Amino acid sequence: MQHEIRAPSLDVQAFAESTRPRSGRDLLSNYERLIEETQGLGADNPVEWSVQGALRADQTGASQAWLHLTLAASLPLTCQRCLGPVEQALAVDRWFRFVETEALAEAQDDDAEEDLLVTSRQFNLAGLIEDELLMALPLVPRHEACPAGLKMAVADPGFDAQEPEKVHPFAALAKLRRGSPD
Ligand SMILES: [Zn+2]
Repeated sequence: MQHEIRAPSLDVQAFAESTRPRSGRDLLSNYERLIEETQGLGADNPVEWSVQGALRADQTGASQAWLHLTLAASLPLTCQRCLGPVEQALAVDRWFRFVETEALAEAQDDDAEEDLLVTSRQFNLAGLIEDELLMALPLVPRHEACPAGLKMAVADPGFDAQEPEKVHPFAALAKLRRGSPD
């Protein structure tokens, strides 16, 4: 398999027809919105990506382009309980189906279990990778068990009660994309 770094733009139909997988190891620093989440930390962390296209027949026998995306990355975030650094591993494994227009995607979205995307001859794969990793971020990053030393540093009686539970900026986006009722 060819070694790549940056995720390419894809001619969706041609990629689905070829069924040749592509993969690479990008750097976190190439994803502006992810680097904002880490406040500039972890710029050299790898973002492992791989994609494979496929053509499948729909119920009428018409051929449709699909894309399988897998991602693995690790982001240094700030634990919202002890305010210490927490390395957050992210993994994504999703299938997408391509439709011709945004209107079709909206019309079919409620009935489809898979995620729908609008087809393109220059599909922005890096943009999709960044969207998916942002949505995979925890709403409130925290250690499973905070290191004792760090917890002591911020220990005060009101801390637990005042725990911020801040709304992650991408929580709204994630809800939108997943169609959650609340
Ligand atoms: Zn912690």
